[in-house]
Amino acid sequence: MIADAHCDVLAPDSEFDAGSLEKRGVSLMGCAIFEGRTPALGFIQTQLEIYKTLPLHEGKRRILTLEGMSVVYRWPALFEEIMETGLRCAAPVWNGENRFGGGADCRIGLTDFGKRSVRELEKRGVSVDLAHMCSETFRDTMKILRSRPLISHTDCARLCPHRRNLTDEQIRAIIASDGFIGVTGYPPFLGGVSAAAHIRHICELGGERNVGFGSDIGMTDGAVGPAFYEEATAELIGSGATAEQIERIGYENFRRFLDDGTD
Ligand SMILES: [Zn+2]
Repeated sequence: MIADAHCDVLAPDSEFDAGSLEKRGVSLMGCAIFEGRTPALGFIQTQLEIYKTLPLHEGKRRILTLEGMSVVYRWPALFEEIMETGLRCAAPVWNGENRFGGGADCRIGLTDFGKRSVRELEKRGVSVDLAHMCSETFRDTMKILRSRPLISHTDCARLCPHRRNLTDEQIRAIIASDGFIGVTGYPPFLGGVSAAAHIRHICELGGERNVGFGSDIGMTDGAVGPAFYEEATAELIGSGATAEQIERIGYENFRRFLDDGTD
């Protein structure tokens, strides 16, 4: 079975919808509402509507996630509607700066508003997604986080020093907090090596129970397609991964993260 923590399947111009990925074997899917570079009310409403109306295939599980949270202060009523629909994970920032803190393009920490919002998300049972944070906001968020940290779509800076990737120190901190790291197949983050190589690197740092897929499929101009899962799995098997390890990385680690760490 396959779990994917980050799928861009809700935007009207996405290359894949949730149903087509389910047909291709994705059993547990994080469906992201993406705010966009310049958040627009209609764009967010459309994605929420698509999430609400897409029929779920039998035996499959979907969760609603947010990528960028300025909707909280721009359109509070819409945020409440997203909460009621079942928001499960939320990334406060995208690449730029907002009232919460700094994204990957910035050098600022988590603001006081950001700190209060992290607490509020935890209180309401929403996992905080540290994907897209700059290192300062990441550091400040980790300092106050009481729940398990999530990085829904990223890769390893050791293998590709991209500003969106995690350093070994950050990866170790996530593992120490029993969090989850979703590895993406987006070529600029992979840096010329495979997603399986990034997964193996996280395993070498001790993250065999904390790593899985966070493909970013849907808005990558065809760079990440459904073959991503099969190719990564085949390479891991080829490099000696056991059936149990494949099950953990491919599905169980993200399932366990969502279900409060229970096996
Ligand atoms: Zn993203």
